[in-house]
Amino acid sequence: MIKFLDLNKINQRHQKEFQEILSQSLSQGTYILGENVSAFEEEFAAYCGTKYCIGTANGLDALTLILKSYIHLGKLKEGEKVLVPANTFIATVLSVLHAGLEPVLVEPNPATYNLDAISIKSKLSDEIKAIIMVHLYGQLADVDGLRTLTTERNILLIADAAQAHGASCNHGKAGGLSDASAFSFYPSKNLGALGDGGAITTNDVQLYETLRLFRNYGSREKYKNLVVGYNSRLDDLQAAFLRVKLKQLDSDNGQRQDMAKYYLEQIRNPKISLPYYNGSKNHVFYAFVVEVENRAAFIEYLDKNEIGWLIHYPIPPHKQTALQQFSKLNLPTTEQIHKRIISLPISPVMSYRNVETVIEVLNSY
Ligand SMILES: *Cc1c(COP(=O)(O)O)cnc(C)c1O
Repeated sequence: MIKFLDLNKINQRHQKEFQEILSQSLSQGTYILGENVSAFEEEFAAYCGTKYCIGTANGLDALTLILKSYIHLGKLKEGEKVLVPANTFIATVLSVLHAGLEPVLVEPNPATYNLDAISIKSKLSDEIKAIIMVHLYGQLADVDGLRTLTTERNILLIADAAQAHGASCNHGKAGGLSDASAFSFYPSKNLGALGDGGAITTNDVQLYETLRLFRNYGSREKYKNLVVGYNSRLDDLQAAFLRVKLKQLDSDNGQRQDMAKYYLEQIRNPKISLPYYNGSKNHVFYAFVVEVENRAAFIEYLDKNEIGWLIHYPIPPHKQTALQQFSKLNLPTTEQIHKRIISLPISPVMSYRNVETVIEVLNSY
């Protein structure tokens, strides 16, 4: 069986360092917002090329707290509209709802699965006060085009970079390409913790100060609460694990890119459409997503040949029971994508022997 993603193998590479972290934690006993959180925040901000980073409990909170903080700062008002791609993971949409704002779902470019300036221009009205671009599957959205649009209109550009740690273009890295960016360190992400975790990066000092309050009960000093805050802190142990794994991130992403290039060169089957990739570092292949016409038959074939797979994601947000208010939206591109997509195994610890097997199996489909 070729696993879709071997998380044990990924983390076992750091077993010795992780064990040291645990014994240090046991001897020190600082569990909450300790030195590892602040050190990781500094290191991750430096990595993304931003002035600030704030650790949070998870990626959904990172997104939600960005929006709540903008409301607190008067840059957004409750009920205002925020544009999001319709084919995203549900967290993006939920964060807008949790912040008391209104998500406007728009179709992505079907080649990149991402928002671009050309396709959303007609969807922009004066009511839309922010855009959340999602760097889906690890590929940067049309950052330049979207930045031009948001600057013209003087609205916010926020990034859901939960799948794109380290993706970069000539203006910088994911996290440093928007007014504020949210990351998730869910274990399967390119930079994954051994549990939940998240972070926000920004260059905006006001936003940074507000976020620091909001993530920790609205308090700067213990037992003095300045705003109606939340408890959404990055765990100190997770921060320590992430500091170790951050050092490996560029090399891991490089392996994913090489593997993706090899797949793109070697998979030749008219029944399987391959993903768009310009060969640069703008894609870190959180997922290698192909499209097929008859997915049920393809899945049966993969199962028979013992090749792991996953679907990111089988049901689009607007078709979820939780979001029935959006179920009547006309989003044919998104629905088509969700019917056809399937993700193949890719990871920095996958052997080339296994990559070859996947290629052979796909070419004989
Ligand atoms: C993983 C993910 C999130 C949410 O992260 P959690 O840490 O699970 O809350 C948000 N958006 C996208 C695109 C994701 O892939």
